[in-house]
Amino acid sequence: MAEASEFSSASRPMADGEEIFDVVIVGSGGGGLVAALAARAAGLQPVICEKQRVIGGSTGMSGGMLWIPDNPLMKADGIKDSYQDGRDYLRAVIGDPDEPSSAARRDAFLVSGPQMISFLQEQGLRLVRCAGYPDYYDNYPGGSAAGRSVEGIPWDGRQLGPWRPRIIGGLGEGVGLAVTTGEIHTLNSFTHTLASFLTTARVVLRTYGSRLRGQDLFTNGKSLAGQLTKILLDRGVPIWLDTAVDDLVTENGRVVGVRAVREGRPVLIRGRRGVLLAAGGYERNPEMRLKYTAATQPNDGQRSWGNPGNTGEVLAAAIALGAKTEYMDEAIWLPSPRAELGGSSLTIARNYPRTIFVNNRGQRFVNESNSYVEVGRAMYANEAAPCWLIFDDAYRRSVPWVNHLPRLRDIAAVIPGRMPRQWLADGWIKRAATIEELARLTGLDPRALAATVRRFNRGAVAGTDPDFGRGDSAYNRHLGDPGHRPNPALGPVADPPFYALPIYPGDVGTMGGVVCDARARVLDHDRQPIPGLYAAGNMAASVFGRTYPGAGASIANTTVFGYIAARHMAASAREAAAP
Ligand SMILES: Cc1cc2nc3c(=O)[nH]c(=O)nc-3n(C[C@H](O)[C@H](O)[C@H](O)COP(=O)(O)OP(=O)(O)OC[C@H]3O[C@@H](n4cnc5c(N)ncnc54)[C@H](O)[C@@H]3O)c2cc1C
Repeated sequence: MAEASEFSSASRPMADGEEIFDVVIVGSGGGGLVAALAARAAGLQPVICEKQRVIGGSTGMSGGMLWIPDNPLMKADGIKDSYQDGRDYLRAVIGDPDEPSSAARRDAFLVSGPQMISFLQEQGLRLVRCAGYPDYYDNYPGGSAAGRSVEGIPWDGRQLGPWRPRIIGGLGEGVGLAVTTGEIHTLNSFTHTLASFLTTARVVLRTYGSRLRGQDLFTNGKSLAGQLTKILLDRGVPIWLDTAVDDLVTENGRVVGVRAVREGRPVLIRGRRGVLLAAGGYERNPEMRLKYTAATQPNDGQRSWGNPGNTGEVLAAAIALGAKTEYMDEAIWLPSPRAELGGSSLTIARNYPRTIFVNNRGQRFVNESNSYVEVGRAMYANEAAPCWLIFDDAYRRSVPWVNHLPRLRDIAAVIPGRMPRQWLADGWIKRAATIEELARLTGLDPRALAATVRRFNRGAVAGTDPDFGRGDSAYNRHLGDPGHRPNPALGPVADPPFYALPIYPGDVGTMGGVVCDARARVLDHDRQPIPGLYAAGNMAASVFGRTYPGAGASIANTTVFGYIAARHMAASAREAAAP
C-alpha cells in the first residue's frame, strides 16, 4: 500500500504496475483537490491522478470564486442569508427540479456548501468575501445583492517550494497584475471614479510591492489551487502528475479502480472505498462537442477558454460503463470576440453603456448584461451565434484597450481610448460614420439596425431598457461603468463613428455529464448508483440545471460535490468497519 506521507513518485506497488489507496481521485481541479482534503481529514488515504504536468485544471486558470449561499464569511460580515433564501433562489432561477438538479441535490449543495467552507478554513485555506458582487439574478426571490461569492486571498506561491511551478497559470497572470476577481472589473473604469482609481492603485501597489519583496503572489483560481495543494502536500497526500486515466476497472459490478498511464507506464490504481471522477468537462474534445451539440447548440469547442486537458475520455469511460447523462449540449457559455481580441475591453463591452448585441436581423435579442450563460443560450435561441457587438466612439474613448501590464513602465498603454488601429486595418472590427453605413459593412439590414439603435437609445438615455430590462438588477449595474449616470449598464449608442464585430458563443467549460444523486454517486439508466463510482464538477450534469446563479457557481458545484463524495466514502468505510 502506498504510504500516506508520499507525494512524489515513490509509492510502493502492490504487484507489478498496481497501486492501492482508499480513494482514487481523477483530476486535480477544485473538486479533486477538495475531495482529497476531505478524504484525508476523514482518515482515508486518497491519491489524485492528474494527466497534465500541472495542478489545477480550469479551476486553477479561473477567477477562483465560489458561490456558496449562507456561507460563514457572509455571517462574519453580518450579511443576512439563510438556507431558505438559497432554496427559494435556486427555485426561482432554475425552475422545477429535474434529475441532475433534483430537490435532494439542491438541498445537499445548500447544506454542505457552508460546512465545506468552514472545513476548508479550518484546514488553513484563506478566503475573502467578494463583497458587493451580487448574485446574477439578485432581483429574483431569495437573491442577494450583497453577494454570496468568496475567493482565495492573494497568496505567496513561494510557500509551495519545488511545487510552485506545478500550479497551472491563472487569470491574474493574463492581466499581469496581482488582482483578485472581486477587483478585476474595476480596472477598466480606473479613470471614471475615485473608488475605481483607488482600487486600481491598490492592485498596482500590491503587484509591484510584492515583486520588490521577492514574493510570487497567486490570485484567483491559482490562489485556490496553490493553497489547496500546499495543504495537501503538508498532509502527505499524493498528487500524481503526468498520470492519465483512460479506463475504469470493475469487479463484481463495483468500480474498484482505474487504469492509467503514469509517466509513460501503464498502472492499475485501486480505490478500496471508491473512485471519484473530477476530470472536468469535454470542452476540448471537438468530436464529442459536435456529437452532443449538433442538433441544438452546435459548437466544436474551438472557442473554449477551458483547460486544454479537459478532453472527455473519462466521461466516455463512465458512459461506456452505463452511466446516464444529461445536458450534454450545454456549456458555461462566455460570449467572446475572436481569440486575438480576447481579454480586451471587447470582452466586458456588453456590460458597459453605449453597446448592444444584435442578431443577423439587426435586432436585439437579450439583456446583454445578464449572466454569460443566459446570453450564450440566447445567442443560440435567436439565430445569433455569432451575433454582432455594436458600440460607439464614446465607449472606445472611455476604456483601456491593453489589459496586460507586464512592466510598470508600460503604464501609458492603459490610457483609455487607444484601441489598436491594426484591429480595424485587419478587418476584425468594422467602423463607419453612420449606423446605416455600419450595417452595410456587416451585411445587416440598415433600416432594421437603425431602428434598433433608435429604440435602444430612447430608453438608455433615461437609464431604462423596456425590452429586456438591462440595468435593472444590482448585478447588471455592478459590472457596468460606475461613473455613468443614471444607469451604469445603459447609455445610448449615439457618438460616431460606430463599430461592429462578431461575438461567438465561446465557453469556459461544458456543463453536461453523468447524472448523480445527492451523495455524488453516479447513476445508471435505471437511476441506481453504480457501486464505487462518484463524480463532481463538469464531469457531472450541473446541480444548477442549464442556469448559472452566481459568480463562482461552477467551482462551488465541483468543490461541494467533491466534498460530499469524499465524506460519503468515509462514512461507508466507517460502516464497513463497524462491528
Ligand atoms: C478563464 C476562466 C475563468 C473562470 N472563472 C470562474 C470563476 O470565477 N468561478 C467559477 O465558478 N467558475 C469559473 N470558471 C469555470 C470553472 O473554472 C470550471 O467550470 C471548473 O473549475 C471546473 O472544475 P472541475 O473540477 O470540474 O474541472 P477542472 O478544474 O478543469 O479539473 C479537471 C482536471 O482533470 C484533469 N483530467 C482530465 N482528464 C483526465 C484524465 N484522463 N486523467 C487524469 N486527469 C484528467 C484535467 O487536466 C484537469 O486538471 C472559469 C473558467 C475559466 C477557463
